[in-house]
Amino acid sequence: MSISKLSAVLVVTLTMPTAFAQNISAQNIPAQSARSVEAASADQAKEAKLEHFDPTAVDPTLDPCNDFYKYSCNKWLSSNPIPPDQVFWSTGSGLELWNESILRETLEAASKNDPSRSAVQQKIGDYWAACMDESGIEAAGLKPLQPELDRIAALQSKTQLTQEIAHLHHLFPGAWQQGDDQTNSPLFGFTGQQDYDDASKVVAQIDQGGLSLPNRDYYLKTDDKSKELLTKYRAHVKKMFVLSGESDTQAAADAGIVVELETAMAQAQMDNVKRRDPKNINNKMSLAQVKALTPSLDWSVYLKAVNAPASDHYIVTSPDFFRAEEKLIAEHPLDHWKAYLRWHLIHSASPTLTKAMVDENFDFFAHTLAGAEEQLPRWRRCVHGADRDLGEALGQAYVDRAFPPESKARTLQMVHSIETALGADIESVTWISPVTKEQAIVKLKGIEDKIGYPSHWRDYSSVKIVRESWASNVEQSSSFEFERWVNKIGKPVDRAEWTMTPPTINAYYDPQLNTINFPAGILQPPFFDAEKDDAVNYGAIGMVIGHEIIHGFDDQGRKFDAHGNLRDWWTPEDAKQYDERGKCISDEYTQEVPDAGPGVKQNGLLTQGEDTADNGGIHLALNALEASLKRQGKSLDDKGPDGWTYRQRFFVSYAYSWCASIRPQIASVIVTTDPHSLPVFRINNVVSNMPEFKQAFSCKSGQKMVRANACRVW
Ligand SMILES: [Zn+2]
Repeated sequence: MSISKLSAVLVVTLTMPTAFAQNISAQNIPAQSARSVEAASADQAKEAKLEHFDPTAVDPTLDPCNDFYKYSCNKWLSSNPIPPDQVFWSTGSGLELWNESILRETLEAASKNDPSRSAVQQKIGDYWAACMDESGIEAAGLKPLQPELDRIAALQSKTQLTQEIAHLHHLFPGAWQQGDDQTNSPLFGFTGQQDYDDASKVVAQIDQGGLSLPNRDYYLKTDDKSKELLTKYRAHVKKMFVLSGESDTQAAADAGIVVELETAMAQAQMDNVKRRDPKNINNKMSLAQVKALTPSLDWSVYLKAVNAPASDHYIVTSPDFFRAEEKLIAEHPLDHWKAYLRWHLIHSASPTLTKAMVDENFDFFAHTLAGAEEQLPRWRRCVHGADRDLGEALGQAYVDRAFPPESKARTLQMVHSIETALGADIESVTWISPVTKEQAIVKLKGIEDKIGYPSHWRDYSSVKIVRESWASNVEQSSSFEFERWVNKIGKPVDRAEWTMTPPTINAYYDPQLNTINFPAGILQPPFFDAEKDDAVNYGAIGMVIGHEIIHGFDDQGRKFDAHGNLRDWWTPEDAKQYDERGKCISDEYTQEVPDAGPGVKQNGLLTQGEDTADNGGIHLALNALEASLKRQGKSLDDKGPDGWTYRQRFFVSYAYSWCASIRPQIASVIVTTDPHSLPVFRINNVVSNMPEFKQAFSCKSGQKMVRANACRVW
């Protein structure tokens, strides 16, 4: 799956993977995908192989009741080793390459300098041409960076810092995003987002930020491995300074300053478990209060420089972070801040610059940190860039080619039947009182289903894309996106908007819009397969749909109402019952993670929402399948054409869609930063909580896939 961390809000997604692409480094972590070298088109077609569910994929020598993940995935895993340019390789990886191959063809066709091109083709085509022009990029050397380095060098006093921070925020891809941990832009993040208490309003949000490593733990943990990684990070920062033209001595000193400042910011940051509770980040302030919090930042200058409309109030996610940052700005001389800003500039721009910069960035962030052995081929890096920077321009052609109306209709039908299943579940449970049930049904009925792609496409006409400079194109696109988010402040909410692009292999629930969103990119095999029966589709994409719906009712989502307001609609007794059930999940998932190294433990409090969504989602999908079979006069335990019962096909299809090999380095990053459990737990923990699974494979009590203290929320 793709690992995407998204959106300025508390959006919850299906999968881990792209989180890193944005969080670790601008764009250099390979998402799971294909082969290492530039594929000729024939090879490419061969490699872009979609996995279709195949019941013979299971390993009959293994016992499903002992380790269902192994039983379902062993054969696939042993015949599909992780390619050298990948850190994560799954049954969805063929789809990722398939999607990207379609995007590549679209980009290549649009890149022919033909006067008859449409405005959209000009944007994506010239973007592609500039990105693929490696020799031009090499010849330009540091030229694209120089004006920005000069701006920082020209700063005369700390009072000028704010203006420069505002300028740099424009240039950072993803600067508008609120991650699970922080915003990955210099010093802090700024964006427009829906107010927690009144979702009809968009207000300004000021978020903690300023780090370059995945999260605060990477600066603060004191075990040998963590300390070694931080030492390697410092060496990397130094090398990047040298590559940008500094002397060895200067670079070493500057790297020390960067690590010192980032460590101090990490120390002050709220941790990702605390951030999961929206009331902890919903700190409303007036502009006067914001100014008093950090007098060293000139907020009047900042707001003017980012063209921020007036905001009713300001949400400051972590006031303590800003108190600490204020002290830091006061204590450190201007030269330290210049070094810090220079680093963030170089780091962010490095993927668009010379081979030496690209290689050094890869070496630390993708190789050392995530475990990749080789870089992604250039074409794939350029596809990722175009998808990030001009995603809704590029996505139109993808939808035309890969997402027929029949796929949309069948998905929507499944969504409706799964929503019906949740309605029945809410009505039938005994632990929720009628008054809370009524509210839950209102919320369920209020969910808006968004399938495939947005109803209107984003207008990129104001983004200046040229054939001559990829670095400039990335800056222009980042600036456009940053200001687009800021400009939402004070305006009506656009409910139709998406925060994932159409080819994305992921899905999300947005608690403040109360929408579920399934991009066309995931509505493909092995998740959605038009050629397969309901048992296969409910097991794979059905679980995904159920997962997103349950996010509206997980420990975080349940705190928002049908309109997206942070409002407690649970009676105290029902909330207590909920928390007990939730604790069962978080205790269960606080577990050893052998894949990430000896002694590494998952924090079930970080993954509770995702785990609740997995466990509830699979129930809904199974119940919807049962209803669908019933309409056809069949039952779950009838045998299908291949001799499996529908119940068995459902579970095997579920597990098969999550088979994945993961390098230990990235597994360790995931456990530290990501709210999703690793795939093996997304299968084995879930099925071991289910009597329905025990029944499917006639498992016995005491076997590993039959948990004595099974958890159940939904
Ligand atoms: Zn999720």
